[in-house]
Order: sequence, then C-alpha cells, then structure tokens
Amino acid sequence: MLKKTEICEKISQDEQFKIKEKLETALLTLQALRNKSSELMRQCEKIRKLGSEHKGKVCSKCGDAIESGHEIIFKGSAGMQTRYYHKECFEELLVS
Ligand SMILES: [Zn+2]
Repeated sequence: MLKKTEICEKISQDEQFKIKEKLETALLTLQALRNKSSELMRQCEKIRKLGSEHKGKVCSKCGDAIESGHEIIFKGSAGMQTRYYHKECFEELLVS
C-alpha cells in the first residue's frame, strides 16, 4: 500500500502532467492563432494594396496603376470617359 506522501506525490505528478498537457495545448492554440492572425494581416495588407490600386489612376494603355502626379490625363469629350496614361505609354501612343 502506498504511503500518504507517495499518494500525494503521485497525484501531484498526475496534476503536473495534466497541467503540462494543458499548457502544451494552450501553446499550440496560441501558435495556431498567431499563424492565423499573421495570415489575416497578410490578407488585409493584400486587400489594402488592391484597394489603393483601385482608387489610384490606372493607365488605359498598359493597365498598370499610375503614381499620382505622373499621369497624363486625356479628357474625353461629352459622354466619353476620361483616360489616364503613363507618360511613356502616352508618348508611345502618339508615336504609333
Ligand atoms: Zn502605362
């Protein structure tokens, strides 16, 4: 038969094991959450980039975004959409 102190020790070892297990589970959960949040951050960054690209002017020739201030504005007549070009793209248009 186990002595009282040995039983106490056994219980505490079991408890310790359980606590360790719980801690490991918690750590894994935390790790998973971290991965998820960094994944979300990446997606947010991507969406933000997409959003700012959409808000910015897009070259009507090559379809790429144009840095503000560097665009050539081609004003359409009534009913025509205003177009924006890169300086280089507009020059290419003029040459061709
Ligand atoms: Zn262009």
